[in-house]
Amino acid sequence: MTTTDTSADPGTGPGAGPRAGRPAGRGAPLGTGWARHPRQLALLEAALCAAAAGCYIFPVRPGSKIPALHGARGCQGTGVCADGHQGWEQRATRDETQIRAWWRHPFNIGIATGPSGLLVVDLDDGAGDTAPPPWTGARHGREVLAMQAEQAGQPMPTDTLHVRTPTGGSHLYYRVPAGAEFRNTASTLGWRIDTRSSGGFIVGPSSVRPEGTYQVVRRGPVAELPGWLARALTPAPAPVATSAPIALPDDRAGRYLAAIVDDETDGVRRAGKGQRRATLLAAARTLGRLVGGSELSEHDARAALLTAAAVHIGIEQFTRHEAEQTTDDGLRYGTQMPRQLRRDGGAR
Ligand SMILES: [Zn+2]
Repeated sequence: MTTTDTSADPGTGPGAGPRAGRPAGRGAPLGTGWARHPRQLALLEAALCAAAAGCYIFPVRPGSKIPALHGARGCQGTGVCADGHQGWEQRATRDETQIRAWWRHPFNIGIATGPSGLLVVDLDDGAGDTAPPPWTGARHGREVLAMQAEQAGQPMPTDTLHVRTPTGGSHLYYRVPAGAEFRNTASTLGWRIDTRSSGGFIVGPSSVRPEGTYQVVRRGPVAELPGWLARALTPAPAPVATSAPIALPDDRAGRYLAAIVDDETDGVRRAGKGQRRATLLAAARTLGRLVGGSELSEHDARAALLTAAAVHIGIEQFTRHEAEQTTDDGLRYGTQMPRQLRRDGGAR
């Protein structure tokens, strides 16, 4: 192939900007778009179909799994990258004009799973290797997933869009539940099972490799990620941040205080993409005021906030250090505006 990085990369056109055509938050609900997807389509049609189904897509070099957009190292800092490099995850789009411009070339279809609100389970062939315990006897990631499902007392989760890869693997597509977020994993679910979500991409149906094509073997609609798989993919909370429930006096003021702590920590736990730091800071300020008013110990407030924030650590570059620093900043700020609870249960 003679296609170069830059052939997909004019840096112009209505869809070329970052997050072009992207609504706030997640992509459109996935589902019906795939229902009409035949086994095989021409690449432009397949690209438009994927976008219609709610996927954010970008060009992948013909015949390969390698993104056709330039990488951070080759960035010239011009065009769409004038204000900083835009990678494939940022530039993936549903914009029809941009898609038609890109797919004048026979690009494969990269689906950016994070912006698309997707988690794709990638099941690979064992290629003759023997599975280690506890997967002994399995020859394919599909068999490992079946073992996992049986162990969880759940049906094999194949009632969703299923794409067969040219090398005999399977891509099972799921919608990420509202408010949840997952990173890519390798072998977390078991031998020969990877997952792609935030920060990842997969090559979509009708794409071509020397070994064959990506074929739809079961059409959508795309099912929501089953709860047992979501739990298996959710990292355990960081041990340092776990704490016993705060012991508060069992009177009206104590119960009121407990409700405030629950409310604030619940908000932190549920904070969505881009809201983690701001939500944690606001909660720390609120609890910091109660620390200042001697209603709550600083230790308890800090432990409760960090326990709640632990669910976000490791996602979207949110680190434990950032959680601790934000918590301490908020507590310090709030402490300067002390708040005491009225003993009749209200607040002043
Ligand atoms: Zn760039």
